[in-house]
Amino acid sequence: MEDVGILIEKWREIYKAEVKSKKKLREEVKLTPENYFNIVRPFFTKISPEDREYVRTFRMILYGMLKYSPSLRTLILRGAGYNLACRLVETGEIKSIDDLPKVFLNQKIGLLDIIEESFSRMKVNIYECISCYQAPPIGRTLCDFEAGLIQGVMEDLVGKNITREIYCWGLGNSFCGFEVIFE
Ligand SMILES: [Zn+2]
Repeated sequence: MEDVGILIEKWREIYKAEVKSKKKLREEVKLTPENYFNIVRPFFTKISPEDREYVRTFRMILYGMLKYSPSLRTLILRGAGYNLACRLVETGEIKSIDDLPKVFLNQKIGLLDIIEESFSRMKVNIYECISCYQAPPIGRTLCDFEAGLIQGVMEDLVGKNITREIYCWGLGNSFCGFEVIFE
């Protein structure tokens, strides 16, 4: 298996270059089954050849929710991630912030990278994200489940916070970036 640490280093270079370049983002399009369902995540496909299938199923649900109601989708996915976080801390699967990347890796949600950590704020990236990797730019973020999960874990381990997704494939980036601001 390719070393995850080395891979994350490579992704971090892409992140740094992209944030610095302030390149003009690609033109927005509409999200469709054609441009959203069928993607190949290189790392996760290597460790799990059926990656494409379960990602497709997961995205079918996310897409259906978006079609039904974008605002309800955000609320429900945020809440689902948040509640899951409480459970993971309760059961001891997450005991410290260091356990968070492991859960994201084991559940194939994405490669989680903690960029910055201080008592007042954190920056967290996700690479090959199950919700948005290779999605076209659509003018909005897509990773509410992941945001809720990060927010919930940080609340239980550190304290109340506001977690926002700043970078996302849905916004034209090549990764997800979350900012956690503690109250
Ligand atoms: Zn995203």
